[in-house]
Amino acid sequence: TLSDKLESVFKKLRGQGVMTEDNIKDALREVRLALLEADVNFRVVKEFVEKVREKAVGTEVLHSLSPGQQVIRIVHDELVALMGGAGNNELDLAAKPPVALMLVGLQGAGKTTTCGKLGNWLRKQKRRPLLVPADVYRPAAIEQLKTVGRQLNIEVFDSNPGQNPVDIAAGALRFAELNGYDTVLLDTAGRHQIDDFLMGELERIKAATSPREILFVADAMTGQEAVTVAGGFHERLGLTGVILSKLDGDAKGGAALSIKAVTGTPVKFVGLGEKLDALEPFHPDRLVSRLLGMGDVLTLVEKAHAAIDEKQAERLHQKLKKNQFDLEDFLEQMQQIKKLGSLESIMGMIPGMGKMMKEMKGAQPSEKEMKRIEAIIRSMTPAERADHGIINGSRRLRIAKGSGTTVQEINLLLKRFTEAQKMMKQFQKMGPKGLLKGMGGLP
Ligand code: GDP
Ligand code: MG
Repeated sequence: TLSDKLESVFKKLRGQGVMTEDNIKDALREVRLALLEADVNFRVVKEFVEKVREKAVGTEVLHSLSPGQQVIRIVHDELVALMGGAGNNELDLAAKPPVALMLVGLQGAGKTTTCGKLGNWLRKQKRRPLLVPADVYRPAAIEQLKTVGRQLNIEVFDSNPGQNPVDIAAGALRFAELNGYDTVLLDTAGRHQIDDFLMGELERIKAATSPREILFVADAMTGQEAVTVAGGFHERLGLTGVILSKLDGDAKGGAALSIKAVTGTPVKFVGLGEKLDALEPFHPDRLVSRLLGMGDVLTLVEKAHAAIDEKQAERLHQKLKKNQFDLEDFLEQMQQIKKLGSLESIMGMIPGMGKMMKEMKGAQPSEKEMKRIEAIIRSMTPAERADHGIINGSRRLRIAKGSGTTVQEINLLLKRFTEAQKMMKQFQKMGPKGLLKGMGGLP
């Protein structure tokens, strides 16, 4: 992977004071090759590498990280920034309903499937979607969307191949307004390549429905070509977002990066399979990790290094050594971990935490479960936090009442915490570095 290559390039650099044009040349070449291999457009690569060079040159080589890690970090951060950074990837639904969303793209890109997936996703967001088949050219296209709608139990606007797509779209919007559908998903026709007739039709659909979003569905497997095509659609229609389909295949998704760089439109969702629930909001971080060939864990541990300050880690280590890790520390660690980013992905880093939350609600670890655990610990007195052995039946009842939870949940938390404490004891010989290793799997 790129990370490995950079590591080896930088082996010889260890101990040098700062990074220079000269000593990062090889590393930048590896970065360039890796991106090209991942199907990123060569112009985008060139500009990108230039940016990384500017950032890297003159950077002091820190003691705590190897130069390789430092460049990876710069590459990583710049890639995330290029992908749109955090936020700004959200679907814009802020309009008076019914809100129209238009899906466009080449034939076979995944529009019809994505239309269903998006409807499914929107319904989970408590919206009431209406699917609209506006592809009258392929005989089976309307039927395909109807099947999708049946599978999901989501309403599909009744249209037939004899109708004009612009009339269908306009009619669907009126229908939605009359029948209380708040989001209208327009599944449009595609061609094998961009052609004027199709573009004219899409422009008219746009004019007739004023869609809040025009989402370009791009097949991640098509790589480079997707970029040119996206550019063409953007010129005529003004895209507001990209949905990258088929990212479950071998494609590394470099196209996404290029599309963003060329059109300036953010990727909003990724499709990860043929099933109708295989759609996820886009996380730049994850795609970047995929591009760089690093596991998410590596990124996390790197972040952890930055966020958990050394002193605190040392203090924690001392406590562990003396077997004093208590609920107060547990709470503090939760706060620290929260700083690191997306909650779900990092919960596993606190020993025992993932399991604890799963058992409490039988669901995925979530912000909500974390809040409950927090509430419980906050309802304890300092003495109880320092020594949970004193928490008897009446204390449990009081804590449950104070935190708006149940005694059962308190019992479970204490049981898991005791387990976690045991686990922590095993790390005590390792020092602060070993602690991180135990938490996240430092390589
Ligand atoms: P359209 O012509 O743009 O409407 O494309 P379709 O929605 O008909 O999809 C074309 C093919 O791609 C179908 O066989 C879909 O099942 C498949 N497909 C769509 N999205 C995904 C995805 O995210 N992953 C995989 N593996 N297949 C997908
Ligand atoms: Mg279709």
